[in-house]
This record gives sequence, C-alpha cells and structure tokens, in this order.
Amino acid sequence: MDTPEPVNTESNTEPMVESTESLDIRDESLDCHECRSCGYVYDPTKGDSTGNIAAATAFDDLPPNWRCPVCSARKKAFANIGPVGAASGFKENLGFGLGVNTLTPGQKNILIFGSLLVGLIMMLSLYGLG
Ligand SMILES: [Zn+2]
Repeated sequence: MDTPEPVNTESNTEPMVESTESLDIRDESLDCHECRSCGYVYDPTKGDSTGNIAAATAFDDLPPNWRCPVCSARKKAFANIGPVGAASGFKENLGFGLGVNTLTPGQKNILIFGSLLVGLIMMLSLYGLG
C-alpha cells in the first residue's frame, strides 16, 4: 500500500541501453585526429593521399615519422576528436579560413599605407601653417 512508485525508470533505462550499444559499435581505430597546429583532420576512413597512407589506416597505425600533410606537425600534435562524419563541413571551414587569410594582408597594407599618407599630408599641412 505504501510502496512508492519509481517515476523515472523509463527515462533512465532508455539512454543507458543506447550508450552501451554505441560503445559496442564504436571502433577506436576509426577516430579522427585533428592537428592542433593547423586544424587538419586525419580521417582513417580516407587515409592520407599526401603521405601515401591507404584508406582504413588507423591513426595509431601511422608510421611514427608521419607528419601532418598541411603543416608537418608530428603525430603528438594531433588530438583525438572521435569519429567524425561531417568532414565536408570542415573542408568548407578551411576554405573559408584561407579566403579570409589571403584577404587580410592586402587590406592591412591598404590601411597602413592610407594612414601613413594621411599622416604625411597632415604633417605637411601643419608645416605649411607654421
Ligand atoms: Zn597540421
């Protein structure tokens, strides 16, 4: 009569079952590794064509002298970011970043040159007044 009914058994068991299932399926050799220097992601399902690494080569199976194909960072510089399915999104990001990078120096030059010119003109006009 006085037995308290547990209310949240249903919501408790469901996620537990799911997580154990995904742990079973999860294969650590398929984990992607991100270069902390440049953001390059090593995807074991694709391998690394630049370094002659065949597809389905786990990051741990890479030769110890393997370097980041983008910035030549060592394997130690890579961080395990787990299995990543959205590699295309990263590629878009990289392209965007490069585009901004190539734009900025030019804009900076124009800014520096412009401010120098303005400063020079102001100095000249001050001289003229004096
Ligand atoms: Zn790198």
